[in-house]
Amino acid sequence: MVAIVGRPNVGKSTLFNRLTGTRAALVSDLPGLTRDRRDGVTDLFGVNLRLIDTAGLEEARQGSIADRMRKQTEQAIEAADLVLFVIDARAGVTGADTSFARIARQSGKPVVLVANKAEGRKGTDGVLDAFSLGLGAPIAISAEHGEGIGDLATDIFAALGLKIPKTGKKGRDDDDPAAAGDAKTRPPAPARPIRVAIVGRPNAGKSTLVNALLGEDRMITGPEPGLTRDSVASELSYKGQSILLFDTAGLRRKAKITETAEKLAASDAVRSIRFAEVVVLLIDAERPFEHQDLTIGHRVTEEGRALVVAINKWDLIPEKQKALRELKKTVAESLAQVPNVSVVAISARSESGLDQLMSAIIKTHATWNRRVPTPQLNRWLEEALSRHAPPAAAGRRIKIRYVTQPSTRPPTFVAFCQRADALPKSYIKYLTNSLREAFDLPGVPIRFSLRKGE
Ligand code: GDP
Ligand code: GDP
Repeated sequence: MVAIVGRPNVGKSTLFNRLTGTRAALVSDLPGLTRDRRDGVTDLFGVNLRLIDTAGLEEARQGSIADRMRKQTEQAIEAADLVLFVIDARAGVTGADTSFARIARQSGKPVVLVANKAEGRKGTDGVLDAFSLGLGAPIAISAEHGEGIGDLATDIFAALGLKIPKTGKKGRDDDDPAAAGDAKTRPPAPARPIRVAIVGRPNAGKSTLVNALLGEDRMITGPEPGLTRDSVASELSYKGQSILLFDTAGLRRKAKITETAEKLAASDAVRSIRFAEVVVLLIDAERPFEHQDLTIGHRVTEEGRALVVAINKWDLIPEKQKALRELKKTVAESLAQVPNVSVVAISARSESGLDQLMSAIIKTHATWNRRVPTPQLNRWLEEALSRHAPPAAAGRRIKIRYVTQPSTRPPTFVAFCQRADALPKSYIKYLTNSLREAFDLPGVPIRFSLRKGE
């Protein structure tokens, strides 16, 4: 028996629907509309869970309805074996969240803290704030978009002390690509496409590459919301993995816009970066790493996307070995935020290197989705601290107690530290690099932050 609790409008009903596969339940923007408690059954990894959606936990400030809802929630928690405590990551932690978290804590029941509405990056601060509720590490999800549901299922199992069967059946709506991250504990990768954008300066060869990848089967699936009218997405399949390719440049060329091509390409790039999970930065081997290439590269990591660098027109390069060595060095120096990013030499025109490019995309995507178990993280922390102790501030050594990974896409880590403000940036950098090395996370930006806490 699992109770979904939280203040109104955080997305409890949406999560209930997502987990049970129902669409019928009332979901509304109006706080408190779904007043009644609903029951439903879900099948996670072949285990039946009964879900209670309280959908109306409110502070009993005024009126008897709120009072009743609060009572109902207390009853639901009482009846439950596990509590899913939901907050709205976009809104951050509110007073109501805090006071209801207290009820959940005092119940003594195991609680999984769920930070909902965390699609995109709008929820990042809220996810980090959620630590302050004292309910452990939050798990970032988007009930509406179905993101993070695989990880949530895994956490639910862990909290109930259940083992996930190795070839277990997945929950019906468990369509989270994050689930593919760790083969040992996650169900097999679902058939959700990897969203890939190919960006680069005009003439780098983007259209040629897209055509080469799609071959004869080019199928235009039509404009996607949020992209320009003349950008298209095409789906292709590579060794059973579906890939959704965003191609913003192709049609522009046909429109023969030349004067402002650079500018347009830049804004196209920004849009498709937001849309993509993995960005392929396509570089002209004959004119490598001009200003715009670097700007795009930085943008990709700022937006938290996974990056693959493809050097095109490799057919034109005479001394390939030497050139590749030099290019890799340049990449390492100028894109220092993503050490060991994959650099693949290709020729879109003669269709060589495309296999390596696809493998790099799939591998980098898996890294981007990777979740490192908390015990491993804390073993790493202990080692990292003993190798290089944190400096002292005001005569006392700064202590870092605990580290956890609240979210993936990109991998995001939080360490708890009494005097977080006093820790120098260089030490945080040391920890980030050490973490990246220890858990092998090449080519993806890592978020590492400190929280005040014991
Ligand atoms: P409840 O009152 O806690 O049951 O919340 P609902 O499930 O009724 O959701 C409240 C509002 O939040 C609705 O407009 C939902 O569409 C929206 N919502 C739910 N989940 C998400 C999400 O993952 N992301 C975003 N952006 N909105 C969501
Ligand atoms: P876009 O503006 O980035 O879409 O670039 P295009 O795909 O239109 O390519 C620009 C020019 O580079 C065209 O003349 C292509 O034929 C050429 N080109 C693209 N890929 C290659 C390649 O791998 N080798 C060579 N030699 N030329 C290429």
